[in-house]
Amino acid sequence: MNDILPPEVSKWQFVEEKARAVLEAFAYRELRTPILEYTPLFVRSVGEDTEVVEKQMYTFADRDGQSVTMRPEGTACAVRAYIARSQWNREPVTRWYYLGPMFRHERAQRGRLRQFHQVGAEVFGLAAPTVDAEMIAMLVALLAEMGIKSSDLEVALNTLGEPEERASYREALRGYFSNHLDKLDEDSRQRLQTNPLRILDSKDPDIQTLAAHAPVLLDRLGDTSKRHFETVRSHLSALGIQSVVDTKLVRGLDYYTGTIFEVKAKLGDLGAQNTLGGGGRYDRLVSSLGGPEVPAIGFALGVERVLLALAEPAEDFEPVLALFIAVLGDKAQAWALPVAHRLRMAGVRTEVEHRQASLKAQLKRADALKARLALIVGDNELQSGKLVLRDLGTRQQHEVTEAELEARIRQLVDF
Ligand code: AMP
Repeated sequence: MNDILPPEVSKWQFVEEKARAVLEAFAYRELRTPILEYTPLFVRSVGEDTEVVEKQMYTFADRDGQSVTMRPEGTACAVRAYIARSQWNREPVTRWYYLGPMFRHERAQRGRLRQFHQVGAEVFGLAAPTVDAEMIAMLVALLAEMGIKSSDLEVALNTLGEPEERASYREALRGYFSNHLDKLDEDSRQRLQTNPLRILDSKDPDIQTLAAHAPVLLDRLGDTSKRHFETVRSHLSALGIQSVVDTKLVRGLDYYTGTIFEVKAKLGDLGAQNTLGGGGRYDRLVSSLGGPEVPAIGFALGVERVLLALAEPAEDFEPVLALFIAVLGDKAQAWALPVAHRLRMAGVRTEVEHRQASLKAQLKRADALKARLALIVGDNELQSGKLVLRDLGTRQQHEVTEAELEARIRQLVDF
């Protein structure tokens, strides 16, 4: 769990602003849910036999003895809120997005934290494959706006079909892997019983070789599921999005049905943790948590991973400090306070010196703060009404009156 300090925080703000702008353009509205939920919500949605629920949740009893969990992901929370408000009666098509911290007790490494942050989006009430394509295109657009080009991304797609199709596939997988028990590690043997699909995304090279010859779900789907998946792919290419079908892609959470996807970065400093985000359809989740049958699809993007993929140093994202007011003496100090206040209220980012210090020391601080301009105010300047505005880049000096100040600053600094 990290503190996020300046200047790094400016990069965060940039990513968050871009996320909001793109999601709002796609007509999503923000949802904010609590960090804590009752534990059964995640057990029932994410799934009892998943990595997240088995090993990673921050779960504890509250003072009433109720088991609560710090949210490990956002979809279950959104669905809970959707059901609690009977949202289907208010908006037959609901588009929500969220931004915020998630908690998983993972083995910490680069790009993998215990408190991490996600930008996520969910659409309820639409079953058409056009929505799947629209959402994937939105995710790619979001990353492009943040500065990660689509040529640096890989979009992987798969489909998990309907739960019935998946159930018969699960049996086929069990049959296949049972014939190779000797090649399975302890984890995979366990998964063979609980959730054999998860063997497919094992990181163990021997098991990957074995999985390469395993039956493929896509080959076993009924016409409806197949057609949905093919239609998503054709809409995606019409939108100019390159994607690859990855039949080993399963995603770690149980609630998915139909289309699933992941976006990986081919650049940056991510190493093995190069999956920026992922998502998929979860057409049965609303009803399984007690709501009506409402189709839905969503994704979540990891903010820390996006930040690692962005090469620019955090300093480049910092806002410009337009003005530093250097004051010499008590009169100047008294004059500066209301002037700085007015400028700040007019949106001019301003720092004013509050300590007794030499002009040299004050200008040094102005440089350290990367201020664009310094206003130098002493008794003489106040008496004559002629203030000195120094451009700290070019070192040029401009004589200004108090009345001209704001306009001159705007002329000299682009902000
Ligand atoms: P998931 O909810 O597991 O599908 O994760 C969606 C995205 O959230 C991933 O692609 C990562 O970018 C990010 N993410 C998930 N877990 C972590 C973590 N422990 N630390 C940092 N980012 C994470």
